[in-house]
Amino acid sequence: MRDTNPESTRNKQDPRNAYSVPPFPAQPQQPPGLASEMQPRPDHGEQSYRGSGRLQGRKALITGGDSGIGRAAAIAYAREGADVAINYLPDEEADAQEVIALIKAEGRQAVALPGDITQENFCTSLVDRAAEKLGGLDILVNNAGCQQFANSISELSTEAFDKTFKTNVYAMFWITKAAMRWLKPGAAIINTSSVQAGKPSEILLDYASTKAAISAFTKGLAKQLAPQGIRVNAVAPGPYWTPLQSSGGQPQEKVQQFGESAPLGRPGQPAEIAAIYVLLASHESSFTSGQVWCSDGGTGTF
Ligand code: NAD
Ligand code: MG
Repeated sequence: MRDTNPESTRNKQDPRNAYSVPPFPAQPQQPPGLASEMQPRPDHGEQSYRGSGRLQGRKALITGGDSGIGRAAAIAYAREGADVAINYLPDEEADAQEVIALIKAEGRQAVALPGDITQENFCTSLVDRAAEKLGGLDILVNNAGCQQFANSISELSTEAFDKTFKTNVYAMFWITKAAMRWLKPGAAIINTSSVQAGKPSEILLDYASTKAAISAFTKGLAKQLAPQGIRVNAVAPGPYWTPLQSSGGQPQEKVQQFGESAPLGRPGQPAEIAAIYVLLASHESSFTSGQVWCSDGGTGTF
């Protein structure tokens, strides 16, 4: 009998042509950039992600939850039954409101907490407000990131270096520290590292260094928190189609060819990495901690 179920068709899809392949149009944006301005529009799983109760009743805070990988995780978490708070920059309100509506559409609690995580005071209050509004906290996803390329070390200013470290490393430290007041045994922390942690580009010295720091922090903290029953893992994406890249993360020529050097011949779409964030948050991966899970379209970086 012929199988006409659309789910079967999707399950048999060839990953090489599941999504758009380069070249892409030039599309410069000011950082942090908006997903809604990207061509093609990234797929965060809005139409495709199906939940099955894997995070039922859990409460998650996701930084950078307005767009890209964080948005894909937020949609997936809500569809898996979690209440979700997202942080983002005030300039990203339009992207964030789309995510809030998608979380609410699942009947889950959605909390919008805009603000700049390069300030310690804000990070501390962010965690407390998220936990108070959600009624607890048991999943923390440190995902917000700053990436601005610089062709030479001479052009990399102290201010830019500092901003990258504040956003990617210090904020993770401050937010995680504040979360310790709320996280209980069974909780999970998931950080977002990068293939840059292992194979740094010559134009991303500061960014790649922060991603290596995130991987080391993840492994050390996993050992420290195991006796408290809290797991800590990281995800290391390769090229994913998000506003981070088109708003100064890469030169525009590279954005136009983004993902072409991945063996699968294209960039990943945020929807394609959401399931890793779900698995690392879920009790299904209860023996997994201190790991950095890579998704890079076949390069095999780690
Ligand atoms: P994105 O632009 O959609 O998400 C990054 C988010 O970081 C922004 O939406 C913004 O809300 C947040 N952010 C930046 N500065 C902030 C600040 N000062 N205060 C509060 N929030 C701030 O892009 P993305 O690619 O989905 O990025 C998510 C994570 O994935 C980042 O950590 C990034 O380094 C990592 N990553 C991305 C790729 C890729 O190819 N896209 C590859 C490896 C790692
Ligand atoms: Mg954004």
